[in-house]
Amino acid sequence: MALVNEHFLKLRGSYLFSEIAKKVNAFRATHPKQNLISLGIGDVTRPLPPACIEAIHKAADEMANSRTFHGYGPEQGYDFLIEAIIKNDYAPHGIRLTPSEIFISDGAKSDTGNIGELLRWDNSMAITDPVYPVYVDSNIMCGRSGILGEDGKWSNVTYLPCTAENHFEPALPDHRVDLIYLCYPNNPTGTTLTHEQLKKWVDYALENDTLLIFDAAYEAYIHEENVPHSIYEIRGAKKVAIEIRSYSKTAGFTGMRCGYTIVPKELTATTLTGERIALNPLWNRRQCTKFNGTSYITQRAAEAIYTPEGKQQTRANIEYYMDNARMMKKGLEASGLTVYGGINAPYLWVKTPDGISSWRFFSQMLYEANVVSTPGVGFGPSGEGFIRLTAFGSHEDSEEGIRRIQHNL
Ligand code: PLP
Repeated sequence: MALVNEHFLKLRGSYLFSEIAKKVNAFRATHPKQNLISLGIGDVTRPLPPACIEAIHKAADEMANSRTFHGYGPEQGYDFLIEAIIKNDYAPHGIRLTPSEIFISDGAKSDTGNIGELLRWDNSMAITDPVYPVYVDSNIMCGRSGILGEDGKWSNVTYLPCTAENHFEPALPDHRVDLIYLCYPNNPTGTTLTHEQLKKWVDYALENDTLLIFDAAYEAYIHEENVPHSIYEIRGAKKVAIEIRSYSKTAGFTGMRCGYTIVPKELTATTLTGERIALNPLWNRRQCTKFNGTSYITQRAAEAIYTPEGKQQTRANIEYYMDNARMMKKGLEASGLTVYGGINAPYLWVKTPDGISSWRFFSQMLYEANVVSTPGVGFGPSGEGFIRLTAFGSHEDSEEGIRRIQHNL
């Protein structure tokens, strides 16, 4: 008899976006003629940059010829992409990495979800709240989160509230924790940390022997000067932090699937007897066992982002979304709503009017304005009283969505 991993039974009935999809489908079934505008799920709408398409065609042709065909590649990724990452994403910020510290992946979701395999199930952990749901759910699956309380919080998770009152800068934990997830620029609040603010987290980690998982999936959206692009811009961070990146929102790769994870050579965790173990060889071992590499064609497409044309085309797509973000923020604020984010991230974190609940405002938007949003409380208890809107739609849909919200407040 196979015994089930009972931790899976502790997971909430469905993943947030499936819950939203269910409500949207129910609306569609009862209102078949209404046309909905989705400003909800964070998926991109712009096609891939032409430089990537060209690289895909070229790589496909290589696959058609026995002399240039590529079978299994290195589990860690091809050197051509790893070198492009070092040269373009890190060297300009004064960060030196060696190729074996970089692991190409099929996206940030897998790596943020899988990285916990390197750690014992009984580490204590902290998350900023609200937060990208994968961090908590993947820890529930291995039993690290403890028991769900009546307040909707897990017993072994320290919640670090990010609220309007603290300007979405979470306070450091008031006790020691083993593991902290940070995501900047942040999904869902769209806010970020300055260099000085992020330094406090690295200093805490160095003092407390804490491991930081730094999710930088939205790094390409940083527009302001004093916002770090990588946690390794902070002195000492290589000793305490893993950084995870994604091409999904940088270059429209949500359907292509590619990202990467940095596990610095200096980074260690300890055994129960206090022996320090480097995490880089462990992650390498894990990847070699459970992952057979991102496809050659996809990695060639990712490499093309770093060509001069690729850079210019990628930037143009990001600006397209950020134009939406600016327009949406302005329109919502003009209607009297309080809006955060939208400056270094493609997300707007909107306070519900008159203090109504996230789900109630979500339903009001759905049924009255025919706009799909994401209820903030779905990202954690401190998300109550907010909805998240994304700037990933077309200009036309984003404008129409805001117009409808304005008319239905
Ligand atoms: N991390 C954050 C904070 C995200 O918002 C997302 C996607 O929405 C991901 C990771 C997943 O990215 P990927 O498409 O690379 O799996």
